[in-house]
Amino acid sequence: MRIVLLGPPGAGKGTQARRLAESTGMTHLSTGDMLRSEVASGTELGLLAKKFMDSGDLVPDSNIIAMIQQHIDDPAGVLLDGFPRTIVQAKSLDKALDQISLPVDQVVHMAVDIDELIRRLSSRVVCKECHTPYNLELDPPLESGICDQCAGDVIVRDDDKPDAVKNRMKVYEELTAPVLDYYQLHRNVAEVMATGTPDAVFAKLTKAIGSGAPFN
Ligand code: AMP
Repeated sequence: MRIVLLGPPGAGKGTQARRLAESTGMTHLSTGDMLRSEVASGTELGLLAKKFMDSGDLVPDSNIIAMIQQHIDDPAGVLLDGFPRTIVQAKSLDKALDQISLPVDQVVHMAVDIDELIRRLSSRVVCKECHTPYNLELDPPLESGICDQCAGDVIVRDDDKPDAVKNRMKVYEELTAPVLDYYQLHRNVAEVMATGTPDAVFAKLTKAIGSGAPFN
């Protein structure tokens, strides 16, 4: 199975993809997490990516495609979170999967209105080490500033600061929303209103994905 989770920044793709991966054994592929690891390790890709990420811009398609390509045939199945984010990426994913005779099995669009997104992003913090996200209002870490999972530092992402958030929304509208149109032209896209508690969204998602998928 290859499932694409689409949705604007702050829709909860990362949180839900983690849970779906836990419940299904599928591999969670988050291009954002992969890039943050590259930045933390100071690799060439990380150095290049950081300046785009900090301002809320997209990292060039060629770098993203090269980074993700080797993972898409993972036999455990993959949950794609944050990829594809441009039409070029969506077409290159189709082409790469075509070459190995595998389809995108499902596309799920997680929809949330803009005021709610801004509210979520402005109270979001993440673990610097394992990338677990927290919401300071609804779901803070048990000990302030310390990750429940790995005891790493919990921080505000540079791209969750107000100017970067504004730019990420603009980039989403201009470059990523057309990916939704692209998939809607070619296949059924499951629509999920990603509002309510994480448990409620998870229930909606598993139901939407449900048919034929190895969920338990
Ligand atoms: P995310 O954690 O998915 O919100 O991604 C954080 C940042 O990483 C984005 O704002 C982009 O700068 C970069 N990024 C993640 N995925 C992609 C992608 N598929 N294409 C280009 N840039 C990406």
